[in-house]
Parts: sequence; structure tokens; C-alpha cells
Amino acid sequence: MIEKFTQSKLDRCISCGYCLPACPTYQLTGAEESSPRGRITLMRAVQEGRLPIVDLLPEAGFCLGCRACEPVCPAGVEYGTLLEEMRDMAWQGKNRPLIIRGLFIAVQSKIGMWALGFLSPTAKNRKANPELNLMLGCFERRLFPSVSRTVAKLDTNISVCKEQSCCGALHAHNGELEKGRQMAQKLGEELTGTIITTAGGCAAHLSDVIGRDRVREFSQWWSQNEGKLEKIKKSGRTLRIGLQDSCHLRNGLGVFKEPREILKQLGDYVEVPDAGGCCGAAGSYSLLQRKNSRKVISKKIQDIKELNLDYLVTLNPGCTRQLVSQLRRARVKTKVIHLAELIDLSL
Ligand code: SF4
Ligand code: SF4
Repeated sequence: MIEKFTQSKLDRCISCGYCLPACPTYQLTGAEESSPRGRITLMRAVQEGRLPIVDLLPEAGFCLGCRACEPVCPAGVEYGTLLEEMRDMAWQGKNRPLIIRGLFIAVQSKIGMWALGFLSPTAKNRKANPELNLMLGCFERRLFPSVSRTVAKLDTNISVCKEQSCCGALHAHNGELEKGRQMAQKLGEELTGTIITTAGGCAAHLSDVIGRDRVREFSQWWSQNEGKLEKIKKSGRTLRIGLQDSCHLRNGLGVFKEPREILKQLGDYVEVPDAGGCCGAAGSYSLLQRKNSRKVISKKIQDIKELNLDYLVTLNPGCTRQLVSQLRRARVKTKVIHLAELIDLSL
């Protein structure tokens, strides 16, 4: 038998089903094969040669990769790693979605990364503390360049190097596991000391490869290093602020208290129902599975509308993009903002 999945990781699942209620795709379909347990059963069948790899394709695409099944699992199944292995074998050659192939090309070369940053007013190159470096991300530098500018402004001790490469999270989550690891190693060599990232997904991937001691997601870093903040007021009224967790940050790294503690200082913090539940962005998911992505976020949009928030804070560029577009579509006035930018508003 050729081992395709890490057998010890498959063996951990005791088929108890505790993960089923936490899984957004199981909630959508109620079908066993669209649950974490069902997908692990499929993986086992492929591992044992009872099913061809091609039979993994529907669930490899349908799973969000949100890892909500991990914190609730009593056996400590590393489902996120199993999903990476699943896509690594299912999304090879012509089975790899075209959009993913295009995204890979955009981020895996120096020229591609340069092109993403071209015309985007990100944080400027700056030599400050060589042991504290800001990661600019790949699509965040293109779509939301103000986030890196704001972090650089908030702490002038942070060094910025615009010639940095991509961390490889996109590759690791989309069927190029080894390449994704190599890219993270390379970025870890380019940026010395502690790397600060404003993207929860990148924080989780980079931490897995180069070690948690080298990586700080922005809310973690701020809560460890910076002082108290003032509440933000508008026309004499304290702002109502909610949060959308980053799945990989919450479920992969266990970081969810830190942003809430900061937000309680900044305004009237309102917990959005199921704030830890996936918003349907899930990396490339909103591009590949547009309809399902919208189904996943629909209840959340309704909840945010009813809460009448001034700001909804995000910790990951994919979530920002998804929430901006879906709130606009539903004509909800709540503004979506990265935590760093909200802190900047208070200062
Ligand atoms: S993944 Fe964990 S929670 Fe889900 S069935 Fe397996 S052991 Fe149970
Ligand atoms: S990663 Fe998310 S969508 Fe996929 S099985 Fe786990 S909970 Fe379900």
C-alpha cells in the first residue's frame, strides 16, 4: 500500500462525530460525506486503495478548510493538515482549478510579487529594528495596502522590506504543500527575527513551518507590546464594534481573546453571533465555490445588519474582501476595517 495521507493523522479519528455540528458544509447539506468525519472516511478509503483519488475531488473543493472541526475534536485530529494532503493529491495536473493556477503564478515569483505591489501604496521600505519585520502578504498588498501603511505608522520600530516574497499559504492550502513549505522557509530567511503579519491565514501557515516563536499576528503582537487605548466616539456616542474571527487564527493558533480585549478598549464591543464561524471567504473558496460561499455567509450578514454596528473588524484580507462585498450587496452600512486601522482611528 502506498501511503498517501499521514497514517498516524488518519488513525487519530475515532469517528465520534463531535465535529459534525461545528462544520459549515455539514450544516448546509446534512450529508455525512460533507462532514469532517465523512471526509476522513473518504481519505481512508483512498489510502487503502478502495477508492480512486479522483473521488476526492468534490469534497476537496467543497470543504472550506476553516478548521472549525479541530477545536471541538476530543481526539486532536489535525484535520487542516489532512485537507492539505487531500488537495495535494487531488488537485494535481488538470484537476487543479484554473483560478488556482493563475493565483500561483501571481505569487510565486519575484516579478509576480513586484507586479502585485506595483501602484499599491503599501508601507515604504524602512530600516528600523532588524529583529522586527512586517510581512506585506501577497494579495493584501494589492487589495488593502493601507493596512501595512497603518501598522508601520503605529510602530516606527518595525522594519519594512518591500522586496519580500510570499509566505506560501496559498500554495499549502491549495494542493502544493511542499512548495508552500519552501516558500515559508524562504520568507523566514528573508525577514529576520519576529515577523508581524496582519493576515490570520498567513500567521497560521508561517507559524507551522518556521515556528510560533518567530511569528506574531497583529492582535497578538499589539496586546503584548502596546499600551491602553481610548474609546472612539462619533457625535458624542461611543462606537459599536463587532469582530469576525479569522478561521486559521482562531482554530489553528487559538488566537481569539486578544482582538476582543483590544476592541473592548476601543468602543462598545458587540459579539457577533457565530463570530468564530467561517465567513465563506476561506482563501480561494469565494472564487471557486461562489454559490456555497454566499450560502455560508448569508446568516452572518443578516446578524450583522440587525446589530447595527458602526464597524466590523477583520484580521485577514480574504475575510475583509468577502465581508465588504457581501455587506455592500445586502446594503448594510457597517464599515469593514482591519484592527490596525481601527486602532489608528482612536489615536
Ligand atoms: S474528526 Fe475528531 S470529532 Fe470528528 S469524528 Fe473524528 S475524532 Fe470525532
Ligand atoms: S475544515 Fe471546515 S468545512 Fe472543512 S470539514 Fe472542517 S469544519 Fe467542515
